Amino acid sequence: MLSFPTDGNLSLYLHIPFCTTCCSYCAFYSEPVDATKAYLQPYVDRLEKEIRACKAHLDRFFTIFIGGGNPGSLTADQLRRLLVAAKADASDEVTIEMNPETFDETYFSLFAEGLVTRLSMGIQSMDDPTLIRLGRNARREDNLRSIALARQARLQYGIELSFDLMVCLPGQTVDLAIADLHEILMLSESDHISLYCLTVEEGTELALQVGLGNTTVLDEDGQEDFLQKMWSELRRLGFEHYEVSNFCRNGKKSKHNQVYWRLDNYLGLGSSAASTLTEGSLARHYTQNQSLQEFALSQCFSGYEEEHVDANQQIEEYVMMALRTNAGIDKQVFAARYQKDFDCLFASAISSLDSSWYSDTIQFFVLTEYGFMVIDEILLRLALEIS
Ligand code: SF4
Repeated sequence: MLSFPTDGNLSLYLHIPFCTTCCSYCAFYSEPVDATKAYLQPYVDRLEKEIRACKAHLDRFFTIFIGGGNPGSLTADQLRRLLVAAKADASDEVTIEMNPETFDETYFSLFAEGLVTRLSMGIQSMDDPTLIRLGRNARREDNLRSIALARQARLQYGIELSFDLMVCLPGQTVDLAIADLHEILMLSESDHISLYCLTVEEGTELALQVGLGNTTVLDEDGQEDFLQKMWSELRRLGFEHYEVSNFCRNGKKSKHNQVYWRLDNYLGLGSSAASTLTEGSLARHYTQNQSLQEFALSQCFSGYEEEHVDANQQIEEYVMMALRTNAGIDKQVFAARYQKDFDCLFASAISSLDSSWYSDTIQFFVLTEYGFMVIDEILLRLALEIS
């Protein structure tokens, strides 16, 4: 059994590491579902038992997120078992990720029963040549069909929608990306967009192709220019840029993701899932280290490795997450949490930053959009100060 605080809010993340096939840029752990079908049911069985054992100590989970991989590799009945075990209808927000190629009306019953309140769909691009280059399984036709279904689900059951879009892709122009954004918003009327810049991760097919010179990606300046134009268009369309990669209208922020960015407590169950749990001054991570096959065939709660997080690491993680958002760091909250004065701790690092990257008041330290663009550099300088 894992150890976690039973008072206060605890969120739950469930990892479903089954995908149709592997996208060329993806460095997340997942395996093709066709080759691992035999493990689906035992995987769900163990996950359900672990959820029940954890839920027995709690009234409810604050928020729930089922991600992957592609949770659409599971049937609606299999997902229902997990959600009922977690008593999802008592949670403030329950998000499920779905890939367009597997989303259909069979999942509508989960919305109708109040077990899922938010649907997050990885569209990435509306352009077939781009989707093919990315190694995506869905094509434009799948995207159009699934966006229409998502909109129908929103109208029928009042669920919230979010769509993922990727930019700075090989062969993609800003005009093409903006046309994708407009089309998704026009078809779905979504109030939430996650916009990701392509990154070349080591060990992926994309990295291999870039290394061989078969694919070229934008340099840093090209990426900045591309992102500035996308961010400006989203602003023009009425979206708030509330996290480096996330935009919302009408206050429709993701409650679950805010748990991560505030470093609030969440429990991650399933192969390769991670947890962050803090009680007073003690913090720990759990990382699940089993492959999906091992997870499916092993005893409940085996394979979760516990790591204690020291005081400096806690501060580093908090700063790293909080600065991703447009709420930034509330210095009072920081002082109450770590018994340290933010201004004293970071004065020297902050004085080395370009003043256009941040806003610093008596109460808040917040990055500007220029700051979001160079967040890695900023975090590096602040981290040096902690160590
Ligand atoms: S669908 Fe998502 S998790 Fe699966 S391979 Fe593609 S990017 Fe990775």
